[in-house]
Amino acid sequence: MIAVPSPLRLRLSSDALVANWRWLAAQSGAAACGAALKADGYGLGAREVMRHLAAAGCRDFFVATWAEAAALMPLPANVSLSVLHGVGESDMVAARLLPARPVLNSVEQVQRWREAGEGQRCDVMVDTGMNRLGLRVEEALGGALDGLAIETLHSHLASADEDCDQNARQLVTFCALRDRVPARRYSLANSAGICLGADYTFDLTRPGIALYGGIPRVEAAEHIRQVAFPGARVLQVRTVPAGETVGYGASWAAPHDCRIAVANLGYADGYLRCHAGSGGATWQGQALPLVGRVSMDLTAFDASDAAGVGEGDWLSLSYDLPEVSGRSGLSQYELLTGLGSRFERVWG
Ligand SMILES: *Cc1c(COP(=O)(O)O)cnc(C)c1O
Repeated sequence: MIAVPSPLRLRLSSDALVANWRWLAAQSGAAACGAALKADGYGLGAREVMRHLAAAGCRDFFVATWAEAAALMPLPANVSLSVLHGVGESDMVAARLLPARPVLNSVEQVQRWREAGEGQRCDVMVDTGMNRLGLRVEEALGGALDGLAIETLHSHLASADEDCDQNARQLVTFCALRDRVPARRYSLANSAGICLGADYTFDLTRPGIALYGGIPRVEAAEHIRQVAFPGARVLQVRTVPAGETVGYGASWAAPHDCRIAVANLGYADGYLRCHAGSGGATWQGQALPLVGRVSMDLTAFDASDAAGVGEGDWLSLSYDLPEVSGRSGLSQYELLTGLGSRFERVWG
C-alpha cells in the first residue's frame, strides 16, 4: 500500500480530552467518571479516546452495540465496557465471547440473559421518563429483576440540558429504584446531568459530549476545552471578478473582485449545506467566510483578506461547537459524529 496523504485532517487534542474528563470527574465528586464511546467516540476514534482516558484513570466505558465493542478489543487492562443497547437474539454469541456487559433494556432482554445462564453480571437500564430504552419502573419494582446480579443500575435523563421539572422528577424516581433494586452501583448522569449537581452523580457518571468539547450547559462553558479541530487543504485559489457568481445555484455573487479559495471539503465529509451563510475558516489568523453553497467534495471561501493563501495550504475550519451549533442549527453531537471518514484523525 502506498501511503496517500489525505487533504482533510481532524486534529485531536489528547490534552484537552483528558482535561475535560478530569473536570467532569471532579464535578462527579465521589462518583466514578466513565466515558461514552458510542459512534466511534462521537466521531473522534473510540480506540484512541479509550486509550487516552484509560491512561488518565477512566475505568468505565460505554458503547452502543456489540460491533462497537468488538472493534475495541483487546481492551486496556482494568477497564470495564458496557453495551448500551443490551442483547438482542443475534447478539448472544458476541455477548458470551467478549469481555463486555450488556445494559439490559427490557423484560425480554432480562429473560434472554437469565436463560443464557452462567450468572454473568450485567447492567440494567430503567426508563424513568424518556420512553426510549429501559424497563418500565413498575416492571423493575415488580420483580422482573429479582435475583439478577446487577453491576450497575442505570437510568438516563431526558432534559438535563434544560432547566425543567422533568430532571427532579426523574431524580426522585431513580432514588426510589435505588432503595428497592439491589445493584453494586447506580448511575444517572450524562454530561449535562453532571452539571445539575451532586444529587445526580450517584456512584458513576457517563459523560459523552463534554469529553469531546461540547458544552452541555452554561455551567461547563469556561471549563470544557475544544478537542476536535477540522482542517481542509486548498485545491486552488481563483480570482472572481465583481458580479460573477460562485458555485451551484449561483447563490453568491462577488461584491467586488474577490480571491476565492476552493477547499477539499464538502457535505460528503459531514460539512453540511446548512453551514452556507454562516460557516467559515481561518488561515494564519485571517478569517475566510464560506461563500455560496457547499458541494459534495468542495467548498469555497472568500480569501480576499488572506493575501498569501495558495494551493496546498491548510485552512482551519471554524468549529467551536456551541457557536457553530447555534449558527447552523445542527446539534453539537451532529457536528462531531457527522465528520466523515475522509478526515484523517491525527492525535497530538
Ligand atoms: C450517549 C449517552 C450518554 C452520554 O451522553 P452525553 O449527553 O453525550 O453526555 C450517557 N448515557 C447514555 C445512556 C447514553 O446513551
